[in-house]
Amino acid sequence: MKWSEGYIYTLKDSPADAEIPSHKLLVRAGMIRKLGQGVHTYGPLMLRSIRKFEKIVREELEKSGCVELLMPLVHPKELWDETGRWDKMGKALLKFKNRLNQDWCLGATHEEVITDFIRKDIKSYRDLPKNLFQVATKYRDEIRPRFGLMRGREFIMKDAYSFDADPESALDSYKKMHTAYCRIFERLGANFRVVKADSGSIGGDTSEEFHILADSGEDHLLVSEDGSFAANVEICPAIDFEDASSSQEELKSLEEFDTPGLKTIADLANSLKISEKDLVKTLFYSASNEPEKELKPVAILLRGSDELNPIKLKNLLGLNDEPLMLNDQEVKNVSGAFPGSCGPVGLNIPIYMDTGVASMKNYVVGANKDNKHIRNVNHDRDYKVEKIVDLRLAKEGDKSPDGKGQLKSYRGIEVGHIFYLGQVYSKAMGATYLDKNGKSQTIEMGCYGIGISRSVQAVIEQNHDKDGMIWPAAIAPYAVHICILDPKDEKVSGVAYSLYNDLNAQGIDCLMDDRDERPGVKFKDADLLGMPLRVTVGGRGVENGEVEIVERKTGEKRSIAISDIKKTIIEWWGQQTL
Ligand code: ATP
Ligand code: MG
Repeated sequence: MKWSEGYIYTLKDSPADAEIPSHKLLVRAGMIRKLGQGVHTYGPLMLRSIRKFEKIVREELEKSGCVELLMPLVHPKELWDETGRWDKMGKALLKFKNRLNQDWCLGATHEEVITDFIRKDIKSYRDLPKNLFQVATKYRDEIRPRFGLMRGREFIMKDAYSFDADPESALDSYKKMHTAYCRIFERLGANFRVVKADSGSIGGDTSEEFHILADSGEDHLLVSEDGSFAANVEICPAIDFEDASSSQEELKSLEEFDTPGLKTIADLANSLKISEKDLVKTLFYSASNEPEKELKPVAILLRGSDELNPIKLKNLLGLNDEPLMLNDQEVKNVSGAFPGSCGPVGLNIPIYMDTGVASMKNYVVGANKDNKHIRNVNHDRDYKVEKIVDLRLAKEGDKSPDGKGQLKSYRGIEVGHIFYLGQVYSKAMGATYLDKNGKSQTIEMGCYGIGISRSVQAVIEQNHDKDGMIWPAAIAPYAVHICILDPKDEKVSGVAYSLYNDLNAQGIDCLMDDRDERPGVKFKDADLLGMPLRVTVGGRGVENGEVEIVERKTGEKRSIAISDIKKTIIEWWGQQTL
């Protein structure tokens, strides 16, 4: 494409609301533009990258036996009621009424629609397995859309759904998708990691996320030294540093003491001259799915230095969403004291203790009287717990759950998620088949998502420098960016256009900067747009029979004889693509 015929409008300054480099750069390059909160137009260059990534996704999925279809964006309420998710999804589902006063929503995900689709066709074990996918727009009414396409309300997702006769074959389908996803992200040219992920109420070891590693990633990943264990912190087990039975310490008598103005664990640790790790903190949460109707308070005990993992608590309590923390007044009503002076002794609500506290003896907790604490507290003797369970966030330096050294911390952007679902949706929606003996059986399912728009931005979050984006060849809007320095010089433009035509004919797509602009302006834009290879064709070079090529990633510059340039670029291209 020639710049003059295309639609490229670059900006000098970053938009005020862009916080991370990829968002700033994509807006500056005119590749995305915000229409409203979390809703963007993909400009022509962006759409090329998106389409290239979609092509990779389609090729790999089709190789794995998946078939493409396209489902509606607008769904009737009745379908979502079958699984109870019309209510369960809460406000993430954008709901509205049509002119007949019927309830509809915008598709946030498509388990209901696809299960409805296949239950009408799949009759027998002979129809299984099947794996269907689509690449389509999703809408989720995210509370806080941010970072451009990273967390949009409207975004492009590839979603796939597998249908199998039994769990064994469903796990085979899951593994096939795992392999396909690895190939997809390898071909994308991204540095990615696969981690164990939260599988919510279904449980088991059957949900993994694919993350593109980047410092600004919203997800926290923990990986063992040799990489054999990797998990999202949300589900990473926290391994105890002490054996519960190891301490020989005598139990001492309870002693209440004044702690005026000491509100935080840090205050208390300073005042008592002990480390935060040796204090026990008490947190209050609601174990209810509808806390506004019924509070159901529970207390959580953690070491002062540890943090609660809300996903572990959510799964322990069997909640739909992360549990709500009680406010100060609610804590006072439940315990008799405001936060900062609360503890487990005398509470009459369920108490859950993190495993990290189990080995402690004679510790300090709040006295449930404002500005008072008690020392020499011991569980079993002074209060009873409902359960001792892993509830804290694992952290860098913790022992790896597979016993291989310590955990290391990374930040990641979740770009894919694969999930073995079992029969949750098929059971609720009556998706069955007849087995070999003519007996009705429920279909086993899996679901598999890739955030297409998020992935493309994530690649830039991982690959950029102070001057602009650095596209990997696989999804660069154009492979080669040709800058003509003297577009009016016939000799120069003759060389440039001959190369442009030859490369395009070879399937190496070129962007030709044919503007009547100063070289500095052209180079700045070329760096910002970040195509993998820049070719500069100028009057002086052409006089000497040469053009210059610059690799965007390495900055390496080479002068190449005009007679060799086509061959050189074709060879370079051959090394770029998988
Ligand atoms: P997140 O935890 O980031 O909210 P999720 O776990 O809810 O995502 P899934 O339901 O697993 O998302 O969706 C599959 C994929 O779709 C995700 O792995 C992610 O790449 C992408 N995705 C999800 N939500 C968004 C969003 N708001 N904007 C862009 N992409 C998204
Ligand atoms: Mg997910």
